[in-house]
Amino acid sequence: MTQRVLVLGGGVIGLSCAFELKNRGFAVTVLEQGKCGGQASGAAAGMLAPYSENVEEPDPFFRLCLQSLRLYPEWQLAVKEASGLDFEYSATGSLYVMYHEADVLAMKSRKLWQDEYGAASELLDAAELRKLEPLVASEAIGALRYPGESHVYAPGYVKALEEACRRMGVDIREGLGGIDIVRWHDGAEVRSASTAQTYRGDTLVVANGAWAGLMESIFGMTIPVYPIRGQICAYETPDMPVRHMVFCSQGYVVGKRNGTLVCGASEDIAGFDTTVTRRGIARLENWNGKLFPFLGGMRPFHEWAGLRPATQDGFPLLGALARSNSVMFAAGHYRNGILLSPVTAHVIADLLEGRSTSGLPLDLFNPERFSQ
Ligand SMILES: Cc1cc2nc3c(=O)[nH]c(=O)nc-3n(C[C@H](O)[C@H](O)[C@H](O)COP(=O)(O)OP(=O)(O)OC[C@H]3O[C@@H](n4cnc5c(N)ncnc54)[C@H](O)[C@@H]3O)c2cc1C
Repeated sequence: MTQRVLVLGGGVIGLSCAFELKNRGFAVTVLEQGKCGGQASGAAAGMLAPYSENVEEPDPFFRLCLQSLRLYPEWQLAVKEASGLDFEYSATGSLYVMYHEADVLAMKSRKLWQDEYGAASELLDAAELRKLEPLVASEAIGALRYPGESHVYAPGYVKALEEACRRMGVDIREGLGGIDIVRWHDGAEVRSASTAQTYRGDTLVVANGAWAGLMESIFGMTIPVYPIRGQICAYETPDMPVRHMVFCSQGYVVGKRNGTLVCGASEDIAGFDTTVTRRGIARLENWNGKLFPFLGGMRPFHEWAGLRPATQDGFPLLGALARSNSVMFAAGHYRNGILLSPVTAHVIADLLEGRSTSGLPLDLFNPERFSQ
């Protein structure tokens, strides 16, 4: 009999799981309290940057990110084909800019271990950097270039995932408001207070991002997932003056095909508040101007914020609960949920099919690891 899966949360993680599960023959319902893509996923810069984002060591999180980057070329094509929607996927590569001689040593040691994992990075001096990014600040003394990093236009990607799911027959319920989990043993039952509807499945996949931490009392376990607000802004730059994703220690700048330059992002503790503050954006403006002086005289035309789902140890919660035969978690992807969406979907679908998960150290992502 077809297995029925309820996916709680319609962000990039919930929709990716739904997409993969439906492809593999499961009957899938997505339950979203608000609007699909209406939270962190629609707010993201869309960078697929495992090397720029993981600079210390090849830990299991880095390896998860790398596996997901490698899935992306095929994955994004599948989403485009199933949805009939195009979205930006740009293999621009990235540059991590240095300002001080002291940074060079750190970049060299980073390069050493990352090249063993396929980074094929290149250390550029100031002249080489300027050839690639002519408008970068004259204070920049060089950069580490990662040719394999890429980015998507996150709102377009999430919209396409949603449309793909709908076309394939995933039942998507939005605007459910408060949700009660009525049963999570021997099947799952979820009730929406606002629509007075009940949804039943064999398995519940909890993919509700920064809100996962609110479910501790339901499942009787510690779930240290916290919202970390990211404020971010965009400039209108129709002539596309920046060609790569450009990082520095204080932020990043990424040019989108629609003629905007997206610059992020703050990391604030503000509970579930997604307000944009003048202070937060002013800090971004200051750094944007230091990286690209032409931005110094401009004001962003759009400012927004989203809630990243951070975890206590920096690793996501990924896998089945031992305390239930009917619940899986796919939450806590913090700064890398867009990047990690394909691998997360594959892991969840593999686990539901009882298949092995291609060498990933899933015990380190065990959602119950904080309760043992
Ligand atoms: C400013 C910013 C920039 C970022 N840039 C990048 C980037 O460049 N690259 C990258 O990889 N990642 C980036 N991220 C991180 C990325 O956006 C997140 O990791 C990712 O979106 C998390 O996806 P999610 O589906 O888990 O969460 P969300 O997108 O927040 O989705 C969770 C959904 O669950 C719903 N929900 C909550 N509780 C319930 C409930 N009880 N019942 C039903 N539904 C519920 C919510 O309404 C929400 O729609 C960025 C994030 C921010 C904020």
